[in-house]
This record gives sequence, C-alpha cells and structure tokens, in this order.
Amino acid sequence: MPRVCTVCRHEHRYEIDTILVERSKPYRDIARHYDLSKDAIGRHVSGGHIAELIALAADAEHAAQADTLLDRIEALQSRTLAILEATEETEDHRVALAAIREARSNLELIGEVTKELDRTPTLNLHLNPEWIELRTVIVGALDRHPDARESVLRAIRSAGNGDG
Ligand SMILES: [Zn+2]
Repeated sequence: MPRVCTVCRHEHRYEIDTILVERSKPYRDIARHYDLSKDAIGRHVSGGHIAELIALAADAEHAAQADTLLDRIEALQSRTLAILEATEETEDHRVALAAIREARSNLELIGEVTKELDRTPTLNLHLNPEWIELRTVIVGALDRHPDARESVLRAIRSAGNGDG
C-alpha cells in the first residue's frame, strides 16, 4: 500500500508548509505542535511535496495561498542574499558557504513553485536575473577563497546547462 503523507493531509498543512519554507522552527517543534512525526516531516520536505501540492491547488483560495508562499520564499531569498553580501566584509568562509547553500535551495524552490504554478513554463535558471545576481554575489564573496570559489563554480556548471 502506498504510504500516505500525514503532513500533506493534515488540516493545517498550509501553516506547516509556511513554517517549513521559512525554516522558522525545527522539525521537532513542528512535529510536537501538529502531532506529526519528525520523519513524516522529513519525507514531506525531501519528497518535494510542498511544490507538488501547490500544483494541485487549482481553486482560488489555494492559488492565493500559493502566491503568499512564493512571496515568503522570495522574502527569505532577499534575507539570504543580504547575509551573503555581509560575509564579504567578514571573510567568514563557513557562513558564506552556508548562505550560498540556502540561497540555492531557495532559488530551486522558487523555480519549482513558479513552474508548478505555470507562471514561467520555460524558466531557464541561467537567464533568471535573480540567479545572475546571486552568482555575481557568490563569486564576489568567495574572492578571497579561490579553492571554495572554484568548487562552487564547478558545482554550478555541472548543475546547469553547460553555459555557466
Ligand atoms: Zn507530504
């Protein structure tokens, strides 16, 4: 029997997704508060259910929720970029890399959600102005860490369409 996701069918699913997208609470706290298991939340996130379920939300109420969710991810992305820019001053290599990872996963989520919402069906990350801006910031932030910069650029190239 296929496993049914307890987070997806939870009556407060939208609230839970919002918390997950904003990473404002640890899984443990969400699990306790909504009477879910930590593992179920992990599967819900890693299975890509957040974007997937937005796609199924064809009615107006859910479409509005999806928009709000997208706004929140974009706001989070702005904050992440601000952190990344701040690391240029501090030369904190570890924080810079963590911020880059966050920023990338935000962008991926934005990409998934916008694709699911059919806003930009031919979204090409390499032509996305936000991505180009981020890539410029990454390269700048890693100016003093040539090894890290090289591996980040390599990772970007291998993930993309080869024109990075
Ligand atoms: Zn789920």
